[in-house]
Amino acid sequence: MKVLLAKRAGFCFGVKRATQMAFEAAGIDKTTYTLGPIIHSPQVVNKLEEMGVKVLKNLDTMDRGTIIIRSHGVASHEIEEAVQKQLEIVDATCPFVKKAQEHVKRLSETGYGVVVVGDADHPEVQGIVSYGGDKVFVVGSGEEVSKLPKMNKIGVVAQTTQSFENLKNVVSECLLRGGEIRVFNTICDATAIRQEEAKELAYQVDCMLVVGGFNSANTRRLSEVCVEIQPRTHHIETAAEIDPGWFDGVERVGVTAGASTPKWIIDEVVSRIEELNKSN
Ligand code: SF4
Repeated sequence: MKVLLAKRAGFCFGVKRATQMAFEAAGIDKTTYTLGPIIHSPQVVNKLEEMGVKVLKNLDTMDRGTIIIRSHGVASHEIEEAVQKQLEIVDATCPFVKKAQEHVKRLSETGYGVVVVGDADHPEVQGIVSYGGDKVFVVGSGEEVSKLPKMNKIGVVAQTTQSFENLKNVVSECLLRGGEIRVFNTICDATAIRQEEAKELAYQVDCMLVVGGFNSANTRRLSEVCVEIQPRTHHIETAAEIDPGWFDGVERVGVTAGASTPKWIIDEVVSRIEELNKSN
């Protein structure tokens, strides 16, 4: 049985950077926390916890120490609270997310109504929205633009994981409604690249393993994309979940991983498959 590993499986730039910053901060200060899980990988969160870095839901109980800001950012009032409390801030917000936050702030300050294309319930979007004034609106699709109030100047920004197609649809609808439109393409292609690679791989194999947190939306999406092509697709978090029966009659197995899956977990999965291969 041959194992084919997707080229870009695992950490994207922003997650890698945030994880490195968190591991560097761990141990420097005994009172180090992250505001929400640093990334969507329970294994990384557990590892950091073993090093003394705990996850906080909010800053209510924190009055000293170091706070690490997760890769997809937090709301502006949470940063303000940390500054007011004179906490040490390790800002691991992905620079691409930060750009979206800055655009929303500048557009609001210069009199634009802002349309954020994204999922209103996602913490990244909630963080981005918090940087604007009272005229910031989240839309999930072009159709939702018709429900927005009349605006002469419209600024458009996207959640980093949106599809270009959806951004284009929203912009087209905005063009029908506003006199002046400013568009910032804040989409990051890390997710789309992983999905394209996963699709290509799924066509070449008899079984696909998608590795990553069950709480990771991008890993779940990778798995959905693969299962449409290869029904023998399994979403796992760790090598321990592999069922040897999955490989009955399999000649080629593909492995890919979400943007928040660390390399050590991917390596363990590949090693486990190779081990099973040898014992057969
Ligand atoms: S997916 Fe893109 S925007 Fe999100 S953390 Fe990774 S690099 Fe940053």
